[in-house]
Amino acid sequence: MGKTEELRKIKDEVVALKNSALADERRANGTLPVVGEGSHDAEIMFIGEAPGKNEAETGKPFCGRAGKVLDGLLESAGIKREDVYVTNIVKDRPPQNRDPLPEEIDVYGPFLDRQIEIIKPKVVATLGRFSMEYVMRRYGLENELDTIGTLHGKILQTKNFKLVPLYHPAAAIYNQHLLDTLKKDFQVLKDLT
Ligand code: URA
Repeated sequence: MGKTEELRKIKDEVVALKNSALADERRANGTLPVVGEGSHDAEIMFIGEAPGKNEAETGKPFCGRAGKVLDGLLESAGIKREDVYVTNIVKDRPPQNRDPLPEEIDVYGPFLDRQIEIIKPKVVATLGRFSMEYVMRRYGLENELDTIGTLHGKILQTKNFKLVPLYHPAAAIYNQHLLDTLKKDFQVLKDLT
């Protein structure tokens, strides 16, 4: 099976997901899962937390206010959005945008693992602490876990890819200092490709 077919299969499985209250809610309110978007040969893969309102309405990751911040950061580093792949750990919207629950991360995490295996990015950039913690645990860096304040912008080596933890773009909407920090950290990403 080619990459596109394998990714399509993941999408079909998420659409039909049975063991998730978030998927049940999505079907009840007629919104969409957000599986991921971008180049299937991306060198950089961005992993956010979970879809918000705009994302669940369109099925596209980071298309609302946090997405505008992400677009600005990509532009500042000269990285084209169509060259990267953007996804989240949790593929359905948690109600009121609350933090994802551990059991939700358990249900959706294996889809993310498969996306990473299929796309084989050189660099994984996590956006926020949930995806940072998930990826670090999953890829053998649990002993190096620390706060995002300590780890952001650092290059961590896993067996399969380099991991660069980043702050979540939504955190920079009203925080210029954090936006400046994110811009610097995006230069780290740029220099890795
Ligand atoms: N926040 C996220 O973590 N992911 C999105 O797709 C949108 C907002």
